[in-house]
Formats: sequence, structure tokens, C-alpha cells
Amino acid sequence: MSEYKDVWVFSERHDLMLEMLGKGREIADKLQMELGVVLVGFNVQRKADELIRYGADKVYLVDDQALELFQLEAYLSVLHSLATSHKPQVILIGSTRNAKPLAARLATRLDAGCAPDCAKLSVDEQKRLVCERITYGGNAATKIAFRAKPQIVTIPSRAFEKPAPKDRTGQILKLDVKIEAPKTEIVDTKPLETSAVRIEDADVIISCGRGLEKKDDKVLLDELASVLCGQVGCSRPLAEDRKWFTEWVGLSGHKVKPKLYIACGISGVIQHVAGIRDAKVIVAINKDENAPIFELADYGVVGNLYEILPALKEALERQLQ
Ligand SMILES: Cc1cc2nc3c(=O)[nH]c(=O)nc-3n(C[C@H](O)[C@H](O)[C@H](O)COP(=O)(O)OP(=O)(O)OC[C@H]3O[C@@H](n4cnc5c(N)ncnc54)[C@H](O)[C@@H]3O)c2cc1C
Repeated sequence: MSEYKDVWVFSERHDLMLEMLGKGREIADKLQMELGVVLVGFNVQRKADELIRYGADKVYLVDDQALELFQLEAYLSVLHSLATSHKPQVILIGSTRNAKPLAARLATRLDAGCAPDCAKLSVDEQKRLVCERITYGGNAATKIAFRAKPQIVTIPSRAFEKPAPKDRTGQILKLDVKIEAPKTEIVDTKPLETSAVRIEDADVIISCGRGLEKKDDKVLLDELASVLCGQVGCSRPLAEDRKWFTEWVGLSGHKVKPKLYIACGISGVIQHVAGIRDAKVIVAINKDENAPIFELADYGVVGNLYEILPALKEALERQLQ
């Protein structure tokens, strides 16, 4: 019998933790194991009951002022110490900018494997955890099984639906752990000027590319976004080269999963398309009928975005009246 048992979930983001609990519960049930949550931070005990309602059997709580802000070494030392003493078989970690390096370093410390950015998880007939991730810029899906334990997997935001909360009971284990002092110091933190809803969480995204001629023309997208209650996004050149935005959609930017993605003046090369493959419906507006974006789009409009966007806005407003 293996000394490893249980499925664990960790994220420094509470919403992502809740999303992962549904899949974590399913995997734990299939492996006939318990589902644990690692709850780390300062004054976070109040969140423990909610995690149990969303599916956790046990909450491993480490509450310390030193953990108030995410600091890699401090959080890593907590997870490493807990994993060494409790030996979970599977550790699901929310795939955030902070936690991706945490997962990789944890795997190194534990001499374990790490499967990054997996949006599908299953248990096969031999009771092996099988993880699936998109690779080669969105052109292939890779299935990964593990040769070592624990099995560490990072899970992107919105990969799984948040489960419905239930009336259930669980155990809260309040633990004291030696916290490693960080080797870097946070000198200052300022909020970025970003939209109220993070682009990766938006249900509707209107994105622009180099087809947009001037920064001021963004207003065309803003207006349509306001009618559709959506967010405005862009291809990389508009952020990196023109500096009109701070973030972009694509392989090196945000992977998005909206219900509706409207690509305006975006050619649709592989690096952009890799970020929108999970969109439910893609609409492309491009004046070049041979633009590659039309190969992926569910609906294509061949035309000038400067004419189409105001007309679309007007038509939608009329419909919604
Ligand atoms: C390592 C690496 C990583 C990268 N990562 C990303 C990434 O994450 N995301 C990303 O987006 N890019 C990324 N890129 C850049 C990518 O290769 C492309 O250069 C970029 O996506 C092109 O952006 P675009 O479609 O806006 O511009 P273009 O390719 O120049 O396309 C502009 C489109 O607008 C159309 N158009 C022009 N005027 C109008 C008009 N008036 N009305 C309608 N259509 C019009 C044109 O027909 C054309 O199809 C990456 C590149 C590298 C090398």
C-alpha cells in the first residue's frame, strides 16, 4: 500500500480554490480518498467552513501574519512542510502568475512531477490520474500520467465550474509550520489600471488588433463592450509595441474562455489563436477575406471594422430596447 493518500487543493486565490474543489472532489471520490484544502494566509480561518461546504473533507489551516501577502519562499515552505508530513497523492494548484513557480519549485523539492496548465483531469482504469493540456500553440493536446508521487498539477482559472455548496461537515486542522523567510522584500504594491473584471474571467470580450489605426478609436470597442456588458482586449502588438493596453490575449498573454469573443482587425496567427480556443463563440471582423482568423471563427464578417462596429452597436441597441 502506498504511503501517499488524499487529494489536495491549493490556491492563493479563493475563487480559484472553489472552482478546483468540484474537480478535486470528483478525483478524490474516484481514488477513494479524502479531499484536503491547504488554506494559507493571515486571518483566513473564516474561509474554512465555506471550503468544506464546497467539498473539502479537511482544511489544513496555516494562519500567520508572515503569510498575509503572497511571498514565494514563505508559501513554498508551508506547502513543502505539509506535503512532507501528510503525503498527499495529488496536489492541485491554481495556475496563477504567483503559484506557477511555486508548483514547479514544490515539485523540485519533493522530487515529484508537475503537469502545468491542465484543463482536463481524469482517473483511468488503473486508477492513474491522467491530465490533459494544450501544447504546440494550441495545435495538440497532450495527456500526462505520473511516475512519481505526489502528483502536482496546475489548473487554469475557469477550467472547471464552481460546484454548488452543500450542507456538509469536515475537519479544520490548525497547524504551526516553520515559515521560511523570503529572500526578497516587497517594497511597494500599487494597483494596476485594469478593468473591473479580469479579462480571463470576462464572459464577453471585444478584442482589437493592428486593424485599429489610432488609440482614440478604442472608443468603438468600448461602446460595443458597454452594450454587451463585456471587456475590451487586444492582440499583443497593441500592448507591447503601441502601449495602448497593459495586457493582451494569446499564447504569451491571457488565455481566455468567454462565451463570446469578437476579434476586430486581428489576423488570427497561431500565437493569438492559442489564447482563444476555449471561447464558446468567436466572431471575426476583418477586411481581408483570407485572414486566418476566419478558419477558427464561428461567424465571419468581411469588412471594415470602422463601419461594422458602429453598425453592430446600433443594431444591438435597437434589439435590446
Ligand atoms: C514568441 C511570440 C509570442 C507571441 N504571443 C502573442 C500573443 O500572446 N498574442 C498575440 O496576439 N500575438 C502574439 N505574438 C505576435 C503574433 O505573432 C502576431 O504578430 C500578432 O498576433 C498580430 O497581431 P494582429 O493580428 O493585431 O496584427 P496583424 O497580423 O497585422 O493583423 C491585422 C489585421 O487587421 C486587418 N485589418 C486592417 N485594417 C482593418 C480594418 N479597418 N477593418 C477590419 N480589419 C482590418 C488586416 O486584414 C489584418 O488581418 C507573439 C509573437 C511571438 C514571436
